Amino acid sequence: MADAEPRLVIFDCDGVLVDSEPISISVLVGAMNDLGVSITEDQAYERFLGRSLSTLIDTLETEFNVHASEEFLERIRTDLYSRFRTELKPIEGIAATIDGLGIPCCVASSSQMERIRLSLSVTGLLDRLPDIFSATMVKRGKPAPDLFLHAARQMRVEPASCLVIEDSPAGIAAAKAAGMTVFAFTGGSHANFAGYRAELDRLSPEAVFDAMPDLIHLVRNHKLDGTKS
Ligand SMILES: [Mg+2]
Repeated sequence: MADAEPRLVIFDCDGVLVDSEPISISVLVGAMNDLGVSITEDQAYERFLGRSLSTLIDTLETEFNVHASEEFLERIRTDLYSRFRTELKPIEGIAATIDGLGIPCCVASSSQMERIRLSLSVTGLLDRLPDIFSATMVKRGKPAPDLFLHAARQMRVEPASCLVIEDSPAGIAAAKAAGMTVFAFTGGSHANFAGYRAELDRLSPEAVFDAMPDLIHLVRNHKLDGTKS
């Protein structure tokens, strides 16, 4: 393979750049319990990790028979954003890792643009990652490949030359469907919920790592056709 290294690294945001999932799931479970929907944090991780708000709305209606009103969504957003402002932390070592990669990077997230920008801003990452793509820009969110393909197109890089860093099964499936190499990052606080590792194994990402600074060596030692150099 001519390209020993990727020409673009596409980072998922939640659980990869910022340690947001424990906050998101806690806010979501609280709001759902208030609506009379009984759901545990483990169940919420399994159903909603890495998925977009529109998927959440669909799932609430079809599986829980709950209509997600605009007030409900607004309350989730308000709670979430206020907790992000005070509690959200970057994934350890992420800033130095982005700087050390020496490869163009962008962000492709299931979240709305406002939330992605807030997340990157409060964690000091926004200046490093000005190219941001939100699931709201495409018709189908993860696990469909649309968002990653859109990001690659906008960044003018072929999908085969892209490396995706993802934490969620939905995101890993999306990257695979886009024909991209995907490394699973398991260093977020949420990576130990029941069933997560089994799902990861099933999707067989090209690499799995749990310390962000290891990404630099992984990229250097991994050819995009899947062979190790
Ligand atoms: Mg994620």
